[in-house]
Amino acid sequence: MNNKNNQKNKKEQKSNKALIGIIILLVILLIAGIVAIVIMENSDKKDENTLSYTELVEEINNKNVEKIDMTVGSTTAKVKLKDEEKEKTALIPNTEVFVEFVQQQKLTGQNDIELNQKPRSILVQIPSTLLSLLPTLIMVALFIMIFKLQGLGEKGKVYDETETSTKVTFKDVAGLDEEKAELVEIVDFLKKPEKYVKMGAKIPRGVLLYGKPGTGKTLIAKAIAGEANVPFISMSGSEFIEMFAGLGASRVRKLFEKARRLAPCIVFIDEIDAIGSRRTSNSGAETENNQTLNQLLVEMDGFSSEETVIVLAATNRPEMLDKALLRPGRFDRQITIPTPDLKGRLEILKIHAKDKRLSDNVNLESIAEDTAGYTGAELANILNESAIIATKNGHDEIENEDVEEAVKKVTVGLEKKERVVSEKDKKLTAYHEAGHAVVSRYLPTQANVKEVSIIPRGVAGGYTMYKTDEDKYYISKTEMKEKLIALLGGRAAEKLVLDDISTGASNDIEVATNIARDMVTKYGMSDKLGPIDFQGKEPYEIQMFGEDIGDKIGLEVKALIDEAYNRAQQLLIEHRDKLDTIAGILLKQEKINEKEFAEVFDGE
Ligand code: ADP
Ligand code: ZN
Repeated sequence: MNNKNNQKNKKEQKSNKALIGIIILLVILLIAGIVAIVIMENSDKKDENTLSYTELVEEINNKNVEKIDMTVGSTTAKVKLKDEEKEKTALIPNTEVFVEFVQQQKLTGQNDIELNQKPRSILVQIPSTLLSLLPTLIMVALFIMIFKLQGLGEKGKVYDETETSTKVTFKDVAGLDEEKAELVEIVDFLKKPEKYVKMGAKIPRGVLLYGKPGTGKTLIAKAIAGEANVPFISMSGSEFIEMFAGLGASRVRKLFEKARRLAPCIVFIDEIDAIGSRRTSNSGAETENNQTLNQLLVEMDGFSSEETVIVLAATNRPEMLDKALLRPGRFDRQITIPTPDLKGRLEILKIHAKDKRLSDNVNLESIAEDTAGYTGAELANILNESAIIATKNGHDEIENEDVEEAVKKVTVGLEKKERVVSEKDKKLTAYHEAGHAVVSRYLPTQANVKEVSIIPRGVAGGYTMYKTDEDKYYISKTEMKEKLIALLGGRAAEKLVLDDISTGASNDIEVATNIARDMVTKYGMSDKLGPIDFQGKEPYEIQMFGEDIGDKIGLEVKALIDEAYNRAQQLLIEHRDKLDTIAGILLKQEKINEKEFAEVFDGE
């Protein structure tokens, strides 16, 4: 969404890692140093020239000691014995006791030892001092580490870049004319707040943008900032919920502090459902979440009427949001950003085609027709892919074939010509895809077949592409039932022709099951259960429809699927000749286009 921010965060993370590295290195060096000193000291004590304390006392008692040189506080001493040339090192566990013992001997005249006591040298002091300081040092290092981490974390995440001059304007946002018209008002608020304040109007605080990812919510928020020429501060809801407990709330606070400083400005919170989801249970993550959400509410309520900070937030799961967010003075305006219709898609394609070298044979209208249901981001992606494919193909300009390849790449995945497919698998795929295509041909509400292929693409072994007809706002029950039949046509053909079934139909089955479930639980299309919304309800809420309501829903879903599967088989038995013909062509030439497909049904 915001590349610059991402890069910045990454940099910040890198320096975080470097810092931890340095601290760990320092601690290791420290420990290694101390260990080395201690070992040196000890090794010193262990050679043959060393006297143990008992041996030393024995030598003193035998009056064999001539001279002792020792340092105050040290646990060793140099000892010169009368019968030996070389000085020896002796271990003295308790120097005070030892000195007293020697002096006692001298006083009583038992011994004439020469005892030299040197003052403590700093060097000798170091190891023991360090050892005693070690725990403290490690604690301090840890504290610094945690402190820095928190600090860095905050800096990196919240203080998102202020794009003081977003160059994006409404011109860059294609389609969405009504939504833009609604938002022009906000732009005006930002430009001339006095005008509205004088009139006694309250400046809107928050606007929620609902819509699928990639429909242009971030883009339109930036465009508002660009139009009003005010700073744009953005962050993503998921970034609030992070490592350190309590940080989410403080991040929200800092974000709004900054916004107040920069006012008038736009604050954009992406994925607000990550912090603003309904407060339900009391698990740790939830509590953290609630604190963050509460802070957000406090901040939004705390604006004075003169402060022109407008908060835009985006989500694709409006039903998840805590109701408290939607109260007056908070996100009291909600705008749905729909997936673009035909006209919108064409305009989006035109905007993104501007900086591409398109050949004259590229027909943007036809791409727009083929991409019903695609978001702005996907359309932008298709054009970008076309440019890459054209470059790979060595074309001077983006040709129509490049664009068509890009559409397929974005929908079904990349063509895998190299993948070796056994004859048996090929036959299975051919019948499976032919099954979809033939069944659809006999279903009035289903779109015409555009292309069938058994060349593997992405994870699919083959595919059947339909011509998308104009965007519909409503889908009838008949149409949904026929969609189920078309989806199960693949599996039905496998069973009919090969008397075996494969895993190749798993995606079809998943989609079909979802549709059937929605028909029953969301669209109220089950005659038995009636027009009731069973979705998104807590289990206890659903139970008010009876203890066994789950079973009833399941049976209804199954009945829809069974009916569709039977109908698909029936259609294929009836039109077995067509099925064989299409599968035959596919096995021979791997692909069949719209015209060739239609020819098979000529004269019907
Ligand atoms: P969202 O925030 O809804 O997930 P974005 O605003 O990040 O989506 O859209 C991603 C990209 O898709 C945009 O940067 C833009 O290139 C393209 N796009 C999406 N919708 C439109 C549109 N209506 N007009 C032009 N480009 C669009
Ligand atoms: Zn299939």
